[in-house]
Amino acid sequence: KPKQIAIYGKGGIGKSTTTSNISAALVEAGHKVMQFGCDPKSDSTNTLRGGEYIPSVLDLLRQNARVDAHEAIFRGFGGVYCVEAGGPQPGVGCAGRGIISAVELLKQQNIFEELDLDYVIYDVLGDVVCGGFAVPVREGIAEHVFTVSSSDFMAIYAANNLFKGIQTYSNKGGALLGGVIANSINTDFHRQIVDDFTRRTQTQVIEYVPRSLTVTQAELQGKTTIEAAPNSEQAETYRRLARRIAEHTESKVPTPLNQQELRDWSAGWADHLIEIERGNQLLAAS
Ligand code: ADP
Ligand code: SF4
Ligand code: MG
Repeated sequence: KPKQIAIYGKGGIGKSTTTSNISAALVEAGHKVMQFGCDPKSDSTNTLRGGEYIPSVLDLLRQNARVDAHEAIFRGFGGVYCVEAGGPQPGVGCAGRGIISAVELLKQQNIFEELDLDYVIYDVLGDVVCGGFAVPVREGIAEHVFTVSSSDFMAIYAANNLFKGIQTYSNKGGALLGGVIANSINTDFHRQIVDDFTRRTQTQVIEYVPRSLTVTQAELQGKTTIEAAPNSEQAETYRRLARRIAEHTESKVPTPLNQQELRDWSAGWADHLIEIERGNQLLAAS
């Protein structure tokens, strides 16, 4: 039975980039991996396939009465299996329902067993504003959930909402939290902010990933960093992250902050950053 992992995070935070590099690192290490995009944008697996889009499960289901699940599965870098759940037509139907239909199709046709996968990684749009995007957590589709967050307030806000979702479904067989993948961490205080948030919510940072031009260049070539720059430091960071996630076993229920706590927490950091800024100015002036 494959290990099922879901990666959440606010739109644009780096979920697909990070997930694709994890998948690439795992296939490189000899594992059988499927990356399952659960974002109506349907671009999760692009950098595993030279920048190409693939038809989504929901597209296929809309066009045909009966769909052979194999038609929705494409091979990418190192043989990784790529699937995009797709989304409903804008304004029609529920994205969460779409994820369920897509996963159901693969399950009914015993794809996970047939392919003898080691890992299935779901890349899920995680502005968890409703039950729809909580589907992989709620339905127990994934066992371990990770969230990509930078030190930006909106990213942390989205992570905190995800924690609320996980907490809500935790006693109903829902997936638990493995930890936070800290992305775009280039300075000490980026790191401190994320560390402080994970401490407050009783979780952990799995890996710190810097924002890097290597990632940008790779993306422009339609590739993961693992493929485009295998000897780079950034590729090593992604390999380390992939190993941490592969070896991870104990997920937990986080303790999200409530609205007031989150506001007080961010206000505290605002004061702290002003002090740091003042300190820097004094240093520069002396
Ligand atoms: P999401 O899937 O969360 O919507 P993406 O993975 O598509 O986000 O990333 C959004 C943009 O940010 C992309 O252009 C991607 O290349 C860039 N990006 C993400 N992480 C990094 C990083 N560590 N360094 C440089 N660019 C990054
Ligand atoms: Fe999207 Fe949630 Fe509405 Fe479903 S219920 S369509 S997932 S916002
Ligand atoms: Mg994405």
